[in-house]
Amino acid sequence: MLKGKTALVTGSTSGIGLGIAKCLAAQGANIVLNGFGDVDGPKAEIAALGVQVAYHGADMSKPAEIEDMMKFAAAQFGQVDILVNNAGIQHVARIENFPVEKWDAIIAINLSSAFHATRLALPAMLAANNGKGWGRIINVASIHGLVGSAEKSAYVAAKHGIVGLTKVTALENATTGVTCNAICPGWVLTPLVQKQVDARAEAAGISNELATQQLLGEKEPSLQFTTPEELGALAVFFCSAAGNNVRGVAWNMDGGWTAQ
Ligand code: NAD
Repeated sequence: MLKGKTALVTGSTSGIGLGIAKCLAAQGANIVLNGFGDVDGPKAEIAALGVQVAYHGADMSKPAEIEDMMKFAAAQFGQVDILVNNAGIQHVARIENFPVEKWDAIIAINLSSAFHATRLALPAMLAANNGKGWGRIINVASIHGLVGSAEKSAYVAAKHGIVGLTKVTALENATTGVTCNAICPGWVLTPLVQKQVDARAEAAGISNELATQQLLGEKEPSLQFTTPEELGALAVFFCSAAGNNVRGVAWNMDGGWTAQ
């Protein structure tokens, strides 16, 4: 379905980003990976799906590096057709104790990076398909783009911000073939959440298993994690022809978290 298209997924060396990249690659899209840590493993996993894969190590908190990454992607594959703004970090603390540098980093990586990648991707998307435009911008927000949780001020502010950015991006391009939508996962067991499980287990002196059950039980009626593969399938739907007129939605995959 996506043969000949190129998808750039930020923060795709791990977790949700890697899961989405694999689902898009399985549909035939060439992939530009980004993120820190092990690169060879994720690259090999994508290449095994029979598509071309490239990597750029831009730090998503740095606009100049994002600009360099977008130029690199265009040089490698012609242009970016699908942009998945996924890179994100978390820090948990009450507002009066929240480190200022953590606030700045979360706003830069979880919110401003999506603005920069989007503004740089849009011109080529709007010119595609003989000027009629074709493009998909998918913002990985969170259930925290829709509701709050204590001790997550920067994260909740950034995620509410990215849901707003999604709506404006969708509206500004509503008469074109470029759509923009957000995905709002509840709990997904990635390194980002494993850190929160570990902290909970240590603070309460309980097992990892019990801490996991408590974490899910507090918020998520299904008592189960959403998987990167399920989120990837939603991204593939947004990229399909059936998604042509899906514009500006923030779609929960949250085990009933916000139905309460
Ligand atoms: P993760 O820690 O597994 O992956 C984060 C990715 O972002 C990694 O590839 C990491 O290298 C990259 N990254 C971090 N800082 C970066 C930077 N400055 N520049 C470039 N790359 C950077 O986390 P995840 O859970 O897969 O999170 C991915 C996205 O999903 C985030 O935006 C997160 O807020 C969102 N999300 C996660 C959950 C969850 O439960 N895990 C729920 C809702 C939303």
